[in-house]
Amino acid sequence: MTGNGKNKPVLTFDFDGVLCDSLLEAYLLTWKLAGRVDPELAHQLDEAPTLDTIHAFRESHRGHYETFERIVPFGNRCEDFLVIQQAVQQAAVIGSQAEFDSFKLTVDKQLQDSFHELFYKLRYELAASRREQWLELNSAYPGVRRAIPRLAQTFRLGVATSKDRETVVALLRSWGLFELFGERLVLDKRAGASKRAHLSALRQRFGCRFEEMTFIDDKVSHLLECAGLGVRLLMSGWGYNGPRQRAQAAEHGIKTLELKELAALGSAQN
Ligand SMILES: [Mg+2]
Repeated sequence: MTGNGKNKPVLTFDFDGVLCDSLLEAYLLTWKLAGRVDPELAHQLDEAPTLDTIHAFRESHRGHYETFERIVPFGNRCEDFLVIQQAVQQAAVIGSQAEFDSFKLTVDKQLQDSFHELFYKLRYELAASRREQWLELNSAYPGVRRAIPRLAQTFRLGVATSKDRETVVALLRSWGLFELFGERLVLDKRAGASKRAHLSALRQRFGCRFEEMTFIDDKVSHLLECAGLGVRLLMSGWGYNGPRQRAQAAEHGIKTLELKELAALGSAQN
């Protein structure tokens, strides 16, 4: 049932930007919360979108959304969405990880902590009260639901994410894929700050060598954290990254995978 044979190699996915296209959900939560925690963004609350209006809102705020989206590759945890909202508001120029990190230092830490707390509270409220609409905002990338069962024939599967496990499990269940992973193999933000820590923990749980593992993430900084372990690293070309991050990955010998290549990864392994 789990498809996990002991001798199979291991394929580990980051979640957002690899399996799940969740940016619009994060954008909605950010608009609803940033103005509540940050007085400088309070004026945005009047026009904040709702679950029912978020698609139209994105269309009418294209410029804002696209600027937000361009900074997302530099964020990691949910409080970074507050940092990004601030950066867009201030028209801050952010084109590198160093620029993002130094801008983040200008955003009050207490505001970030409050945002983090409210972000999860609101996510769980929406997930409970508006289940269908919330699930739709967190869809699997096209083809992922078909690719995963095929990949499970060749690989044992894991997740290494900075998201919360409850949400990941709920979404995998709704896509009919959870049984191919299992709860023990979904490592979330509590498993450590770096993907290197996640992969080390997963290696122990799977009882395998790093050389038997493949890891797909959409964030080049996460992949670089894992360099030198011996894990085969791949960047998802369909995730939250751009030409700059793909070029950086290539400089380090990390291949960018296209979505249409995902399902065939198992065959390439054989
Ligand atoms: Mg990601």
